[in-house]
Amino acid sequence: DVDRSNEIQQARMQLPVFAEEHRIMEAIHHNDCIIICGETGSGKTTQVPQFLFESGYGSPNSETPGMIGVTQPRRVAAVSMAERVGNELGNHGHKVGYQIRFDANVKSDTALKFMTDGVLLREMMNDFLLSKYSALIIDEAHERNINTDVLIGMLSRVLKLRRDYASKDGSNVKPLKLIIMSATLRVSDFSENKVLFDTPPPILKVDARQYPVSLHFNKRTAFNYTEEAFRKTCKIHRRLPKGGILMFLTGKAEITDMVKRLRKEFPFPKKTIPNGKGRDNNQTPIYNEDDTPEMRVSAKHADVEAEDIDFEVNEMKDDFDDEVGESENDEGEEEEGFEETLEEDQTENDPLYVLPLYSLLPTKEQMKVFAEPPAGSRLCVVATNIAETSLTIPGIRYVVDCGRSKERRFNEETRVQSFEIDWISKASADQRSGRAGRTGPGHCYRLFSSAVYENNFPQFSKPEILRMPVESVVLNMKSMGIDGIANFPFPTPPDRFALRKAEKLLQYLGALNKESRITDLGKKMSLFPLSPRFAKMLIIGNQLECLPYVIALVSGLSVGDPFLSEFELGFVQPKKESKDNFDEEEKDEEPESQQDLESRRKSLSSFNKSRKLFTRLDKHSDAMKLLSVICAIDHVPKSNRESFCKGNFLRGKILEETVKLRKQLTYIVKVNTSKESVAVSINVSESELKLPKPSKKQVTALKQMITTGFIDQIAVRADVIDPELRISNRTTIINVPYMTLFPSRTINTNGTQLDKYVYIHPASVLTNCGELPPEYIVYQSLNLGSNQQQTQTQQQKLMKLRMKPLNDIS
Ligand code: ADP
Ligand code: MG
Repeated sequence: DVDRSNEIQQARMQLPVFAEEHRIMEAIHHNDCIIICGETGSGKTTQVPQFLFESGYGSPNSETPGMIGVTQPRRVAAVSMAERVGNELGNHGHKVGYQIRFDANVKSDTALKFMTDGVLLREMMNDFLLSKYSALIIDEAHERNINTDVLIGMLSRVLKLRRDYASKDGSNVKPLKLIIMSATLRVSDFSENKVLFDTPPPILKVDARQYPVSLHFNKRTAFNYTEEAFRKTCKIHRRLPKGGILMFLTGKAEITDMVKRLRKEFPFPKKTIPNGKGRDNNQTPIYNEDDTPEMRVSAKHADVEAEDIDFEVNEMKDDFDDEVGESENDEGEEEEGFEETLEEDQTENDPLYVLPLYSLLPTKEQMKVFAEPPAGSRLCVVATNIAETSLTIPGIRYVVDCGRSKERRFNEETRVQSFEIDWISKASADQRSGRAGRTGPGHCYRLFSSAVYENNFPQFSKPEILRMPVESVVLNMKSMGIDGIANFPFPTPPDRFALRKAEKLLQYLGALNKESRITDLGKKMSLFPLSPRFAKMLIIGNQLECLPYVIALVSGLSVGDPFLSEFELGFVQPKKESKDNFDEEEKDEEPESQQDLESRRKSLSSFNKSRKLFTRLDKHSDAMKLLSVICAIDHVPKSNRESFCKGNFLRGKILEETVKLRKQLTYIVKVNTSKESVAVSINVSESELKLPKPSKKQVTALKQMITTGFIDQIAVRADVIDPELRISNRTTIINVPYMTLFPSRTINTNGTQLDKYVYIHPASVLTNCGELPPEYIVYQSLNLGSNQQQTQTQQQKLMKLRMKPLNDIS
């Protein structure tokens, strides 16, 4: 009894999914879980919920009174899809609602609810059976967000439970239906996963009509991709036939800049319309007065989406193999993809109707992309990833793809997460180009070379769960109230051993209690997209005004060591390795000349002088040495930084990266600690980073905070534990044995036995402290040293495990 307008009904009938209604509903009837795969724009998100609604799901007097729930990974999609489906449902439109973390319009008669996957996860904490739903649609499953993955794991259990309860006599529990929807055919992690579903759910493929899209790679990869995107778009608009342009960029700041520039380049003519009194002239408002209104997101309640985070520096590592070109210009060779010409009623100066599309844009603004552009103008949407598969914009014929996106990243080595701009996957690039072929043949302009595409783009992006530190995954799940993580039915499980280890670490850090339940501290920690160690340091850092220093430290520890060692510099020759490995002595070394020797001595002396400068804060703490250099660089003017690094034997690139991460962290801390709403417009400037020298009290406090963060990585000098053991005055510091409080590995990966002791790394400040090293040390990491020793008894080679100390514990 749904009464739709003619226009809507016509549009629905055009959609490939529309023809499949019967097949889809039949499959849902016979299975508790089904998977629907269909090209973006085929009508999955807008139509499948309506099919369910029309066959009685969500209607109070039916067999299936529970609501229909639809989850989306992104806020924008949840809100705008609710609005669209509401419109399509005509006289039942008021029964469609949405809920995102800080905003909802759900009412008592809502039958169809769109929400972010985070919202549904939170609902499960209170009602694991999700009894108010009769059907759930998990949309965009191909994105493989951690929330989606965890949801599907949990729901696989809920399906069984609901089925079991329903089959019991007199029970009023009804079975639940689960529909997983994906824009790609890569669904085997769900369909062929016996841990999830005993009987593999049927996969329904929806064939979409897709017109051919011609791909045009740049010959050279433009480093300044926004500039290149601007140039390309102008050229398309000036030279090519009608059809909308869709440009992919990485975040809000880039997008608003681009929108301003393009609007200025191709303005609407200043029409003069006489107003009621016939005197003043009014300009037709094509765009809003307030150009880029923003949704207000309360810091306390909103999830930060990667693309919401904007920094001044968004540089990407220039890791292309081919020549980096400024841009392709019109001189010389003709650019590909400009063979067609303007249609008769077009001119080079037609207005361009430029609209932004990103997650913080208010719904009303987002919805503009679906409307017809003003007569005589061409539509141009400048969007983030959101337009890749979540939203289909009608009438797009040209796609301009910068090939990048902003993603949450995790560095295995440093165990740190950050938000970075990086290449998208080949699969994503293909999705983006597909956007040009929905309504007719189209063109996709890729602002990178085919060589970069081939060599630098991964085939698919990894599921997010594998891109995050395991301890963050565990903390996240615990904060959702999930226990028994080692046995959790993950679509793609992280290593089980690593999961258990992570749980232990979280207990040491106080994020979980003895029963492995989340604590209040743990809840706070889970708000930081950072390794829990660092999250903890940041939370407790909020005393004695230490926070900015903790942020600096965490950044420094994350990015890597900025200090070049005297070995790397060649000032000191490393001691010859034991010669077991060499058949014959190397003979190619020339004896050093007197001059060389002299200059080496000079360099070494200035090296030592410089290093002393950085150890003034605390002679027992490598962490304070790191802090000194990080803070020092802020006080050096930008133009002098290179020579500063050179003169002090520092790695400039590492320090640059550290500054970037400090900005990110400062932002994230502000978002998570601000009492106000509107966290998203917080900016971090470089001058804000400048810090005075920390006081004695602060240094002591900072060292304690480090200890708290690395509480599981403490080593004790061996003679403290074993009084029998004597350390003679002649033992060099790097040979003083330590024992770790928590067992470290004793077997090397290649099976060789390791020494039971660990030793101080030669690059540590402790090797120069001029006294017996401290009894207790907190260390950052353990690394296998290369120098070998032979035990007299076993004639067996032992590798030395070296620790990188952070500081002593006093
Ligand atoms: P899928 O989920 O399979 O990618 P959708 O259901 O999102 O497909 O989209 C189906 C069609 O509905 C698309 O052609 C899209 O342009 C159109 N559409 C979606 N939202 C709106 C809207 N708010 N206004 C007009 N058309 C819309
Ligand atoms: Mg969709």
